[in-house]
Amino acid sequence: MSDILVGGIEAGGTHCKCVIGTVSGDILSSASFNTSTPDETIGQALNFFTGFKTEIRALGIAHFGPVDIDQKSPSFGRILKTPKQGWSDLDIVARYRQVLNVPVAFQSDVNAAAMGEAALGAGRGLSNFVYVTVGTGIGGGVMINGRLLHDARHPEIGHMLVGRDHRVDPYEGCCPFHQDCLEGLASGPALKGRWGIPGEHLKPDHPAWALQAHYLATLCVNLANCYVPEKIIFGGGVMQQPFLPAMILERYLELMKGYMQHVTADAVDDFIVASPLQGHAATRGALLLAGQALATL
Ligand code: ADP
Ligand code: ZN
Repeated sequence: MSDILVGGIEAGGTHCKCVIGTVSGDILSSASFNTSTPDETIGQALNFFTGFKTEIRALGIAHFGPVDIDQKSPSFGRILKTPKQGWSDLDIVARYRQVLNVPVAFQSDVNAAAMGEAALGAGRGLSNFVYVTVGTGIGGGVMINGRLLHDARHPEIGHMLVGRDHRVDPYEGCCPFHQDCLEGLASGPALKGRWGIPGEHLKPDHPAWALQAHYLATLCVNLANCYVPEKIIFGGGVMQQPFLPAMILERYLELMKGYMQHVTADAVDDFIVASPLQGHAATRGALLLAGQALATL
């Protein structure tokens, strides 16, 4: 199997990354471009795969959601209702299968990233962890007893409701569904909406980061209370700020108030961590998914 080549896609709200690699998740070639209209984005991805000198034998797709990942569902492979213009109800799997004519596996972007972390990244050797991306949106893949939660639907961690103190944070939030859910308050677009400056240009001593750490620590407290993960692994554009995991852990311990004592200040670098896979957790997970699609033929 090691010389078989497969394709992987991570389609995010802002960027789309395509890779060709092995079923063990090693990347041989990659391309990335902006996620625009469905026709343009899918067209660019197909050009990448059909232009490669060796044909791929299967494709794994890690897609921004919500997506229907239930293989028994009539709408399997489709995007469900999304605020992203033009993408709702699109049959993603069919669009790729028609042209490439290979088995296509389909997952949410964060579930695929959790698979990548489990096999190759910060989740290696762990049975229970959560992968969270903080980028254009916020989403999470939950690994419990070594399996994703669950086969038919994926959690929507980004839309959890978190308390907002209106005196501290008058920004009303940018989620088109809930306004001030976690994604509405702490995604990349929320940072830009609140402060008028995109996250990548905010200085490390800007007050934005304490508030950001507070909201993400609230998420971590809720995840710890629900799932008791051994680790929470963060990826996505906003988490490229290297100081965030330590800030989140500090605020997490304050918010936890001594409850669930297995996590202490010593857990820095251990409990709340940045993905070590350099932005490729989901694409490498997508290659693993493609390998699974081949194995089940
Ligand atoms: P996608 O959501 O398409 O997967 P990203 O994870 O890169 O893409 O997220 C894009 C968001 O992350 C944008 O809102 C952008 O402003 C923000 N972002 C990108 N780089 C950084 C950075 N270094 N620090 C903070 N925010 C960033
Ligand atoms: Zn929401």
